[in-house]
Amino acid sequence: MIGICLLGATGSIGDSTLDVISRHTDHYRIIALTANSQTPKMVKLCQQFKPDYAVMASESAAETLQKQLKALSPSTQVLSGTAGLERVAALPSVDYVMAAIVGAAGLLPTLAAARAGKRVLLANKEALVMSGRLFMDEIQRSGAELLPIDSEHNAIFQSMPVDFSRGLAAAGVRRILLTASGGPFRTKTLDQLQSVTPEQAIAHPNWVMGRKISVDSASMMNKGLELIEACWLFDAKPSQIQIVVHPESMIHSMVEYVDGSVISQMGNPDMRIPIAHAMAWPERMDSGDQGMNIFEVAQLNFEKADEQRFPCLRLAREAIEAGGTSPAVLNAANEVAVEAFLENGLPFLAIPQVIEKTLEQSTHKRASSLDVILDEDREARVLAAQFVRQLG
Ligand code: NAD
Ligand code: MG
Repeated sequence: MIGICLLGATGSIGDSTLDVISRHTDHYRIIALTANSQTPKMVKLCQQFKPDYAVMASESAAETLQKQLKALSPSTQVLSGTAGLERVAALPSVDYVMAAIVGAAGLLPTLAAARAGKRVLLANKEALVMSGRLFMDEIQRSGAELLPIDSEHNAIFQSMPVDFSRGLAAAGVRRILLTASGGPFRTKTLDQLQSVTPEQAIAHPNWVMGRKISVDSASMMNKGLELIEACWLFDAKPSQIQIVVHPESMIHSMVEYVDGSVISQMGNPDMRIPIAHAMAWPERMDSGDQGMNIFEVAQLNFEKADEQRFPCLRLAREAIEAGGTSPAVLNAANEVAVEAFLENGLPFLAIPQVIEKTLEQSTHKRASSLDVILDEDREARVLAAQFVRQLG
């Protein structure tokens, strides 16, 4: 039996992961489930999966959960806070850690999993964006396996030669084509974008996802973060990655080789597919998806991305080119701006403005240690909150 720690069990990726695991209970056992504050959902999940550990972000939520589990799942030990998350991510009984907490809150537990040499199933792209080299070094040092869950990166992984880690040039790869759906505002003009609402932003045409990543998809910062994510995962330069808008979300990304061959991975937009792939790798297993109806899809379209309407793409590219702590600052400012937008406290088009101003004001540093990264993250949040007040 393979022991699983699911960080972010109550979220959208959490749901899909539990759906896949439920189909293979003879192979996988849930050791730990974690959540931020959704106690009622955690009670249900603990009752169903009987994990050894459950972790809530706050102590009060953990106490509530503990009381309710006394009768329903007495063998579950309840922990709280970052220390609890880090502990369950590194348990000896855990083989695979699904990193599916949203945002910077996932960084420390995901790093703990990397350090402990687990198979890290990485959905929490913000963790890698923030800590880049440091994270990849931890994976190397501990001998952990890093498998991308983000559908595009999972597609790139599947389209790469097995030995891609020796370098893209040596592996005969010319470039990566990173696909983007274009989000709910793909065809909107700049003028129309001025008045879009959070409700419109989170109504994604192809994917059902958490609120934060849905807004990121609408602003295309999601693709910006994914560009940075791809640079680290595949040791690629930003110039080796071409973003391609592909509204059908059937091709999940492509790898172009020096001989002109282009290999892609296709499938329905269903996160259970990359999750099942990464869990079973190098084998295959049923994900629950019924397969794509190619005649219903019928047409695949491709467009260039528009950095005028979606400046977050440019900001992310500039941040990874600048290196150091810039991607962490970009990520922190984006989290603050998205939160404000979701609370109707910031217009949609001010999201990239807050990020750009924060990047301009923050001191560019080498990302030499986790402390430096976390300090920059904190500082950027303070700056971004000031710009939110100015622009909100
Ligand atoms: P979500 O909002 O649906 O779920 C987030 C999870 O994180 C929840 O379980 C929540 O309780 C937990 N969480 C939130 N804040 C926390 C905190 N401060 N401390 C501890 N736990 C906390 O998000 P999601 O859509 O499942 O996305 C999760 C991650 O996966 C994100 O990084 C996202 O970019 C990435 N991702 C998601 C999808 C998708 O289809 N949903 C696709 C690719 C990548
Ligand atoms: Mg993605």
